[in-house]
Amino acid sequence: MNQPTRNLNGTQFTIERISEEVMRRLADMQEDILLPESDEPVPVVKNGQLELETPIGVSVRHVHLCPEHVEILFGKGHDLSVYNELYQKGYYAAREQVMVVGRKRCIEKVRVLGPTRPYSQVELSQTDALVIGMRLPIATNGADPACQPITLVGPEGAVTLPGKGGGGAFIARRHIHLSDVTAEKLGVKSGDLLDLRIDGARPTTLHDILVRVKAGWFTEVHLDTDEGNAVGLRSGQSGTLIVPR
Ligand SMILES: [Zn+2]
Repeated sequence: MNQPTRNLNGTQFTIERISEEVMRRLADMQEDILLPESDEPVPVVKNGQLELETPIGVSVRHVHLCPEHVEILFGKGHDLSVYNELYQKGYYAAREQVMVVGRKRCIEKVRVLGPTRPYSQVELSQTDALVIGMRLPIATNGADPACQPITLVGPEGAVTLPGKGGGGAFIARRHIHLSDVTAEKLGVKSGDLLDLRIDGARPTTLHDILVRVKAGWFTEVHLDTDEGNAVGLRSGQSGTLIVPR
């Protein structure tokens, strides 16, 4: 009588172990599928500080437009169309391009980035600004009162952005995009300033990388072309973000 019961128990035990193992592997697989952050770089502790390997995007001069200005520049009822998806989900380079009119010169074919925004703004490098004869402030967006007036010309019309906080031209402040989850992991918040170490042929540490946080964002530093060129970087390469502890 005892023998079959032991066998039965033994068999049950084995089936339980197998189903546990199957459930565990399924859970692992689901974690891989469900967690968008699983591909995100993981911070490591080094020299008493947190270091995070971070992808860097080098932003070429570009324009953001409000819906009203899209219609003035490209015609009534016109919508921006996608040319290229950007690294951050939901953001894209549009097919549409405009001419930016400076004091001394113009820059043709400046790419519009979508989606539309409440204010139009023009983000140039300092080199671009010098070429077209303008002095521009470093700012985070077109609502900054130091932004300068500037004119845009499209195939169907022209607009002049007023500057002074109502949309205008500026040089983009270097910044990092973080999800709320990654920001919490790093112990940083919107508005914090961090260092970014660039190794390579022109080793450099860039200070005051402004932290910007939004749920769903991928970790990515944005520099402009002047900054990228100065440190010998190209879009898609990476740097090391340094978080003091
Ligand atoms: Zn950015």
